[in-house]
Amino acid sequence: MKISRIETIPVDVPVNPALVIRSSLGTHAISPFLLVRVHTDEGITGLGEVSATPRWSGEDRVTAAHFLETLLAPQLLGEDPTHIERLTAKLARALAGNPFTKAAVEMALWDILGKSAGLPVYRLLGGPVREFVTTKWSVSGVDPDKAASIAAWAVERGFRAMKVKVGLDPDQDMARVQAVRRAIGPEVRLGVDANGGWPPRVAVQMIRRLREYNIYFAEQPVAPLDVSWMADVRRQVEVPVMADESVYTPQDAMALARAAAADVFSIYVGKSGGIGPARRIAAVAEAAGLTCTVGSNLELGVASAAMIHLSLATPGINAEEFPCDIIGPLFYESDLLKDPLPVTAGSARPHERPGLGVELDEGKVERYRAR
Ligand SMILES: [Mg+2]
Repeated sequence: MKISRIETIPVDVPVNPALVIRSSLGTHAISPFLLVRVHTDEGITGLGEVSATPRWSGEDRVTAAHFLETLLAPQLLGEDPTHIERLTAKLARALAGNPFTKAAVEMALWDILGKSAGLPVYRLLGGPVREFVTTKWSVSGVDPDKAASIAAWAVERGFRAMKVKVGLDPDQDMARVQAVRRAIGPEVRLGVDANGGWPPRVAVQMIRRLREYNIYFAEQPVAPLDVSWMADVRRQVEVPVMADESVYTPQDAMALARAAAADVFSIYVGKSGGIGPARRIAAVAEAAGLTCTVGSNLELGVASAAMIHLSLATPGINAEEFPCDIIGPLFYESDLLKDPLPVTAGSARPHERPGLGVELDEGKVERYRAR
């Protein structure tokens, strides 16, 4: 089997206005993503998704389409798509950075391998280590009343864990977390995600103050500029510290582990450049006595499926203790799939079909195609 063509479909999918995510990095109201189809000479097609926003990794659907066409497709055409590790290394050499773009190709190669073997991707990865993936909700950095009503709505739907965006303004952050804790009661697990928005000294003060609301983790309290910042914070607080923007690569994970800068890594298929690289980060975590969860850039159906297969089959991810953010499909009117993923409030499962197990709804793809 040989790769015969790489097709890209630019889409702009609006987030449900009631759920638009506001954080210290700005507002995520529309997803400028790119769908990818890797075609083969045997008629099997693999699906991928560049779930990239510029504030995250400096990529969007325009840069992704450009690099796929000019630099990555020439590395892939004529190659055997089932040689996933070798092709992933080839892509890494052809283009620096741009992990979400590379991840779209890598997940499409897993999709092809699964379809050619007649097995779901999670089985190719070694089989399930859990029956389903426990997920949590994410409350945007909005005013306290609105945050409380979003949180109450999520609990009503069935979520038993959630996080709140903080790092915007210390007093507003306190008021928002307080309002959310009051709205959800004492039993629902609650974490905070500062997206690097606090200076180190403020981060320590805030995490100590927030213990009043029984938070169970603090995600990316400080900017990812220097691992010593996060190490300083972690030394001074009791709540587990989670690294997100600080961990893109296995080398980032190693540096964080060496500096004792984090308790948990938030890994994504997109951020690390694919399912394989994400699993290498999970392996570093295991070796260092740490654990992982799966984070999100509000993926649509294709990339959410990749995250579910990863989470289902990777023992270094502890979705039970640190529920995953596989909630992208809940933020959109449509995840662009023919059969929506079995993603509900609190759990995510894959379709029990070969490959990623998903098919695009062509009508919906046309509706959201960027022009
Ligand atoms: Mg985060």
